[in-house]
Amino acid sequence: MGIQKSIVLVTVDCLRADHVGFLGYECPTTPFLDSLAAESFVFPAAIVAGAPTYYSFPAILASRYPLALGRDALGLAPGEPTLASVLKQAGYATASFAAANAYISAQFGYEQGFDTFQDFLDDEPEPLASEKLNGATARGWASRLNRKLQQARPSLGPLGILYDELYFQYCQRKTPVPNSLDALRRFPAADVIVNEACQWTASVEGPFFLWLHLMDPHSPYYPTEKALALLGRCPVSPFRARYLNSYWNRSDLDPRRLARHRDQVIALYDAGIRWVDAQLARLIEMIRKAGRWENCIFAFTADHGEELLDHGGRYHPPSRLMEELIHVPLLLRVPGNAKRKAAQSPFSLLHFAPTLLDAAQAPIPSEFQGSSYWPQIQEGQSYDAVAISECVAGCTNPFRPENRLGPRVLSVREARYKLVLHFDPPAEHLYDLEADPGEHAPLAATSAKPVRRRLLEMAHAHLKRSIGQRDLVAHAQVRLRDLQLEWKNSAAKASAAPS
Ligand SMILES: [Zn+2]
Repeated sequence: MGIQKSIVLVTVDCLRADHVGFLGYECPTTPFLDSLAAESFVFPAAIVAGAPTYYSFPAILASRYPLALGRDALGLAPGEPTLASVLKQAGYATASFAAANAYISAQFGYEQGFDTFQDFLDDEPEPLASEKLNGATARGWASRLNRKLQQARPSLGPLGILYDELYFQYCQRKTPVPNSLDALRRFPAADVIVNEACQWTASVEGPFFLWLHLMDPHSPYYPTEKALALLGRCPVSPFRARYLNSYWNRSDLDPRRLARHRDQVIALYDAGIRWVDAQLARLIEMIRKAGRWENCIFAFTADHGEELLDHGGRYHPPSRLMEELIHVPLLLRVPGNAKRKAAQSPFSLLHFAPTLLDAAQAPIPSEFQGSSYWPQIQEGQSYDAVAISECVAGCTNPFRPENRLGPRVLSVREARYKLVLHFDPPAEHLYDLEADPGEHAPLAATSAKPVRRRLLEMAHAHLKRSIGQRDLVAHAQVRLRDLQLEWKNSAAKASAAPS
């Protein structure tokens, strides 16, 4: 075995595959990553094993289907082997810097295997005023008037729509506007995370594993002003940015009306991606200057996409599995390996961790459900694979324990066909992604019967494995951790409440 290679893994929240340059996006969101793609393996069809964040990361870090421990078990199980724990055991220095996403915090077992684990959750500000703009934030007489109007709202009939509009506009104008987009931002931007990562990387000798999770394209969309400039966009005032985010967040509007501002919202989303790209350029320049880049594996992917109205939805609910939610970018740069054309077959992120460990010549835990595709990828061979993704109907984001026991939703995706299965009420939709990449019209139930049967059989085999091979001890441990957490939270609430 040669010298151990260091590994940098970057995951970006809400990043759709079709919004990066190296997968064909026409807007220049990722010039640096595009340049890296020339020396990397680029996966044209990387598919997450579940969405959103909490159903995606068990596969990315621990090569495990999100519902394999049961629908009531969230996060990683105590002692579950992960990329971090394997590499730490192999002698790597390990660190994680994540931009304040509670679902991948220590609460859910994600600190396991990391020497340094910084989740930035203490810095998270109170929910923003902008998110309350539909609510009663006005004071005094205006508030009293508003309460009266709110009570009268159901009896207004068609006038109610006008009322909603006027009230929204009123709140927008009445609520004080901060003087920069920075003050509106909910999560630390990529530059903050990369600063920490640079400092840590400079402080370690020997091989390291660095995992960064960046939230810049996550809603609410408040990119840095510099990122807008880098994209060649006109500046967006804090008032306008807040207006767009609040408008986009309105529950009283149908997709047709939301679509009025779609392009401007996407411009903000894209600027978040542009900032990630600029900061990764800085991180890698630093690693290069330290003379460590030629011995460093770099992997870039996302935990799920974002709907952006493709099928009427806006964000990333845990109950749908359309391509805009499950198809993510994946770029893998392994020094010493010439770029080869990647197979068109879907690559499930279930296989990501074992493939990455194999590329780094590190051992692969037997507990991993996925397997390494490194031999095929390295040789540029095609492989015939399906990607299964799962989530839960009726489950919500943010996650609420009372909603997590709904029936599963499954998708089985091949290069051309994709079957989406609902169990209650039962429904199956088969799409021909070649003829209908936007998944607008499922094939008629009478057509493509052999394909349908093949994919159904795979879905059943998956379910059988998932339920039959459940690790009951891990399940119990996760449930115990959840209960302790709930108990701690309610105890904290009780002691904080005025007596
Ligand atoms: Zn996420």
